[in-house]
Amino acid sequence: MSIASKWENGTPHVALFPCAGMGHLIPFLRLAVELDSRGCATTIITVEPPVSAAETEYLSKFFTIFPRIKRLEFHLLPHKKSGLTNNDPFWIQTERITNSLHLLQPLLSTLSPSLSSIVVDLAVLSHLGSTLSIPTYLLITSSARFFSLTAHLSHQPHHTNAECVDIPVLGQIPLSSVPPPLLDPNDFFADSITTNMLSLSKAKGALINTFEWFEPKAVEALRRNGVEHILPVGLLEPFVIGEALNLPWLDEQAPESVVYISFGSRTALPKDQIRELAAALEMSVCKFLWVLKGSKVDKEDNEEVEAMVGTTFLEKTKAKGRIIKGWVEQEQILAHPAIGGFISHCGWNSVTEAAALGVPVLAWPTHGDQRVNAEVVEEIGLGMWVKDWGWAGERLIGRDEIADKLTALMGDKNLRVTAKDVKEKAKQCREIGGSSERLLQELIHSFKSN
Ligand code: UDP
Ligand code: UDP
Repeated sequence: MSIASKWENGTPHVALFPCAGMGHLIPFLRLAVELDSRGCATTIITVEPPVSAAETEYLSKFFTIFPRIKRLEFHLLPHKKSGLTNNDPFWIQTERITNSLHLLQPLLSTLSPSLSSIVVDLAVLSHLGSTLSIPTYLLITSSARFFSLTAHLSHQPHHTNAECVDIPVLGQIPLSSVPPPLLDPNDFFADSITTNMLSLSKAKGALINTFEWFEPKAVEALRRNGVEHILPVGLLEPFVIGEALNLPWLDEQAPESVVYISFGSRTALPKDQIRELAAALEMSVCKFLWVLKGSKVDKEDNEEVEAMVGTTFLEKTKAKGRIIKGWVEQEQILAHPAIGGFISHCGWNSVTEAAALGVPVLAWPTHGDQRVNAEVVEEIGLGMWVKDWGWAGERLIGRDEIADKLTALMGDKNLRVTAKDVKEKAKQCREIGGSSERLLQELIHSFKSN
């Protein structure tokens, strides 16, 4: 096919294919907006049915706000259970997507103008990469550090000792930071990551939502350890999807006086842990805004707030805090002048948002890549982390311990200074001539020559 027939007026047409969950959807949509605003025609492949209500609602608003960006609906086959351990609804969805991929190729060929490139989630690379004739890129939705770890473990699974994984150039990652499922070959997570990492050569490049200054060693380690064409193009610019933030109580609070608490889109703390966190907030003098989740999948989140935190909690904390149940515009909250700290599970999107907005983090990782992401937060000086709080459910963190750490987070002036420096550095990367902007321009150029 001639280049001229691939796109009109030199406009490359790029499809983007995120897998399951908001943590994957959001960075793909941000990338789509970045490409659209730089003159690419973009199509988002959305899977039907999605797992969470948040995905459905977010997508519907997104396509209204960005009418130029097209949607291609991909209807999935029913889930077929494999022999691998897998009981997480988001991973089950990823497996279901993987098993339906042979239906995607014919769908893609119906697109007009025809595609010049496709950007996909890591979980589909090995299956999709061999069937597609178009250049395929990855968008890594985790940190460069976690990507380095998975690259290393996939190629050298036995290069761990009792205490750490030693990654050339990057250094040591303690075994306690490696998600246990990743070390279990019968687990879907480990199998998916290993299979896909061994297929990296099928991708023309790997975009990562990070920037050179933020994770210099991890980016260098990926490049030096044979993962070619690493593109740290972050931090991907957020866009406003909802109405302006309407939280009159927050507007009344003093600058940097409120801690924002959220464990992301798919993590519910154990019930007894929610009670301890509530008791810590009640004891503490800090003001708080807490986004509370009661279940992994939002459609099942039906319990009343009072039942979760105790009936008197709301009354007792009326003057100093608010709990929200349901979706919030996290970016807008983090950007609010009253927010001075963030208790975060360290999902990578949340880390990048705290970095872009200069909000100090108290890292409370619960599963998956989050402890490795918390290492990035701690190393760069964006936040603090109590490592022995362990994985979710490993031990109950008491109210006194939480209250102490909360006071430390909100009172740490040095942390505020370093967090603002991180924000400044993130901004510089995105300016003309900055490292991320240059890579994004190069990428678009390569789309044009594909
Ligand atoms: N998010 C949000 N509102 C919510 C919960 C989450 O805007 O009520 C966003 C958050 O800003 C981030 C994403 O959803 O962009 C969650 O991704 P992350 O990697 O932080 O965690 P995950 O949900 O994947 O565990
Ligand atoms: N991942 C993957 N295949 C899977 C599950 C996860 O490649 O089947 C990768 C993906 O990059 C993801 C990271 O591992 O961002 C961490 O996964 P986890 O489930 O902990 O978090 P998620 O990003 O799904 O909220």
